[in-house]
Amino acid sequence: MTAILHQNSTIQLHPKMPHSIPGANSAENDEVPIVAEEMETDEMQTDAEVNKPNESNVTPAEEMTAEDAIAEQLKDTKVAEAKPEVKLEDLFADDDSDDEFASSNIKDTKVSSSPPEAPSSPVNIGTLSRATDTDVMRAFYQRLFPWRSLFQWLNHSPTPSTDFGHREFAFTLQNDAYLRYQAFPTADLLRKDVLRLMPSRFEIGPVYNTNPRDRKTLRKASSFKPLAKELCFDIDLTDYDDIRTCCDKANICIKCWQFITMAIKVIDIALRDDFGFKHILWVYSGRRGAHAWVCDKKARQMNDQKRRAVAGYLEVIKGGAQGGKRVDVKRPLHPHVARSLDILKSHFQSDILEDQDPWETDVKFARLLDLLPDRSLNEALRKKWSSAPGRASSAKWADIDALAKSGASKNLDSKALLEAKQDVLLEYTYPRLDIEVSKHLNHLLKSPFVVHPGTGRVCVPINPKRLGDFDPLDVPTVTELLDEINEWTAPEGEDGGKVVQDWEKTRLKPYMEHFRSFVAVLMRDEAGVKVKRERDDSDAMQF
Ligand SMILES: [Zn+2]
Repeated sequence: MTAILHQNSTIQLHPKMPHSIPGANSAENDEVPIVAEEMETDEMQTDAEVNKPNESNVTPAEEMTAEDAIAEQLKDTKVAEAKPEVKLEDLFADDDSDDEFASSNIKDTKVSSSPPEAPSSPVNIGTLSRATDTDVMRAFYQRLFPWRSLFQWLNHSPTPSTDFGHREFAFTLQNDAYLRYQAFPTADLLRKDVLRLMPSRFEIGPVYNTNPRDRKTLRKASSFKPLAKELCFDIDLTDYDDIRTCCDKANICIKCWQFITMAIKVIDIALRDDFGFKHILWVYSGRRGAHAWVCDKKARQMNDQKRRAVAGYLEVIKGGAQGGKRVDVKRPLHPHVARSLDILKSHFQSDILEDQDPWETDVKFARLLDLLPDRSLNEALRKKWSSAPGRASSAKWADIDALAKSGASKNLDSKALLEAKQDVLLEYTYPRLDIEVSKHLNHLLKSPFVVHPGTGRVCVPINPKRLGDFDPLDVPTVTELLDEINEWTAPEGEDGGKVVQDWEKTRLKPYMEHFRSFVAVLMRDEAGVKVKRERDDSDAMQF
């Protein structure tokens, strides 16, 4: 399977769930893998219904015009500004610089069309400042947000192009108005508008075939179409509430974060090895989950049908918390499922059986017995566990095999038992994806590096090579970061020869470095593709 996927550069997708090995003896096996490049383009959905943000605390303001929303916001913030217009010098300003915007050591960071800036140093926040305070947000956007890297990430080149210019941004303003179809030719213009409107956060949507701001000037609404967007995945701990025992609702701890760690491991390797994707950015969602942005060009160009196929390939857990078996994998196991089991095995022992202890009580172990196939064995297990209240889940898990070997059931089907145990392992460890996020080209997703309004934590990238080191509770909050800028002093013996960026003075540094190198590699590969295409073209000309 993996070999098939690697044979050529096209993406081969199995439209069905990975229930079985293609060619093995099951009813689905007649289906030939569909070569993604040959799929027909499906109807792009530009319907506002699909476009709604994925969180409910946002007021969808589809009918609100940009001007209305801005007027509302200006009433609140009492900042009156002219609408920014694109100037040639803005388009090409700073392209060669490798530095982010605004550092306290740079004097000329003032931008004429931006609102009055916070004092350049120190950052003026008090001990009572909250993440959502306007002063705090302004200082964050001015001094720490990686505007240039964000631009390069979405633009795939240092020179402004429609990859960035036709990209939709959606702002959630502080009065909860939701402002869609914003677009900017450059990082600087995006930054200026963010400083003017001071959104509590913003989301990133697709690249359209025209500037999203001009969509109403098109003769037919249907000719406004999304062309490209990263393939995205969303994993949230609320989807694990029926199996996590340490926390509930919005609360998380390092124990339940392991569900996210497991999910990233399983999804990341599948995207790389089975689909050949290279540029996968994992980002902490700021509270209790993580997002993946697959940034390879061939991922960005996938239509909804292909996105659904990839999502379906990765989806193994189905159904809600109530009722029925949630895992339904066919045998022999699809290589992706077999590999996932292998990855998840050790996590199951430590992170599930020991840390979550999911079958502690009678009510809870009934769920486990529901998933096991042999009635006589189940009766023996029930008896044993009921007479030993509080018996640890790891001991209960070992009891299954022990009692099976001792002959508790005369007609035991040991293959069925093994498969049931594999299904239990998957049910408690396999990634639970919010699949709607992945299915649609025009789904919006919160930008990396924005601040989560509830926790004040920055949505930092997660380095998949150092997953074990990531602790969501250790991710800096915006107020902590601004304090760190204030507390920073130049190391002994350095006379200020090198300008130190504000982010370098804070715990944001490793996350920024990871993001910057991710973007650099993405841009290098993208440039390589262009050079190769041009060379191929010139060869053709010579012929
Ligand atoms: Zn927890």
